[in-house]
Amino acid sequence: MCAVLITGGAGYIGSHVNKMLNARGVETVVLDSLVTGHADFLRWGRFVKGDLRDPSALERAFAGPRIHAVLHFASFIAVGESVADPNKYYHNNVAATLNLLDAMVRHEVPGLVFSSSASVYGEPEQELLDEAHPMRPLSPYARSKAMVEQMLADYHRAHGLASCRLRYFNAAGADPDGELGERHEPETHLIPLVLHTALGLRSHISIFGTDYPTPDGTCVRDYIHVHDLAQAHVLALDWLDRGETRAFNLGNGNGHSVREVVDAAREVTGRDIPVQEAARRPGDSPVLVASSKRARTELGWRPAHGDLESIIRSAWDWHRKDCRAPVRS
Ligand code: NAD
Ligand code: UDP
Repeated sequence: MCAVLITGGAGYIGSHVNKMLNARGVETVVLDSLVTGHADFLRWGRFVKGDLRDPSALERAFAGPRIHAVLHFASFIAVGESVADPNKYYHNNVAATLNLLDAMVRHEVPGLVFSSSASVYGEPEQELLDEAHPMRPLSPYARSKAMVEQMLADYHRAHGLASCRLRYFNAAGADPDGELGERHEPETHLIPLVLHTALGLRSHISIFGTDYPTPDGTCVRDYIHVHDLAQAHVLALDWLDRGETRAFNLGNGNGHSVREVVDAAREVTGRDIPVQEAARRPGDSPVLVASSKRARTELGWRPAHGDLESIIRSAWDWHRKDCRAPVRS
């Protein structure tokens, strides 16, 4: 019997993928230190508590059922923090991944699906970013993702390790059953912060930069439902059987400005959401919108929850419940 190892499976995106794989009868092992993850998201599969930087934790994760693929979500994720503390990002996102890759080679695991990011592209040269666009990351976080992508190409050449490098655009939304959702502490992402403001947990939402070369001066992003991202991982696991390494964008191809997100959230929640204009956040790209043609044609991916309002509605259903919960781990 073979299993899939999920690093970071107690986090936002990894927990949704863990749930989806278990629903399809796939055996999973979650390796997570819980540094930013949540014990109450661990309802499926076997759990190994440990840090990827600790080789003995990796050995414990590989000690159970034979692992035939790894889904690698574990990393730190805040762009602004990475600018202030690059050491934290290079250790956790790059050095820890090197430990993981070496353990995979030792245990003869043939393939890995990697959580990369649209931020690897930096400032776009064209309206819709495809995978051929050069990687010019603007922050240590984004550089850590680009570095791992390069390491994966090298491990493919040297060891035949297959990899599917999934470049997520802006993950948002929550589990349609309401069991999981976005909970980062501290939260830095726009949609949950806007919804926390709607709930009265914050006085206002700051708009980081109003002088970008975009129609309303605020940054434009491509928001993608976490359930659609999870579907792409299921497809990526099958794709690994080809033994190749390849990058795939995952987005809807629709750009929404920060102001449009706030307006859509006002519409969905029916609440007042005060805004304050603020300085640009270091490391931000003005516009990041995906062409996901490759994922559609080569993985057979069909995102089903594309419009911004339904993404925000599913997040709103989750946050209303989660922010009221008395005990959160
Ligand atoms: P998250 O913080 O919710 O989850 C990360 C998980 O990894 C947490 O459970 C944390 O405890 C665990 N972890 C971190 N470092 C670890 C280590 N050294 N050892 C063991 N466990 C460790 O983040 P998320 O939003 O679910 O993001 C998952 C992945 O997707 C990340 O790699 C992130 O860079 C990538 N990504 C996310 C987004 C987004 O919009 N959230 C966009 C692009 C890419
Ligand atoms: N943003 C903002 N105010 C906030 C948080 C985010 O204006 O409180 C902006 C941010 O500058 C970016 C967009 O919203 O342009 C999306 O940011 P997020 O952190 O959600 O995702 P990122 O694009 O950095 O992955």
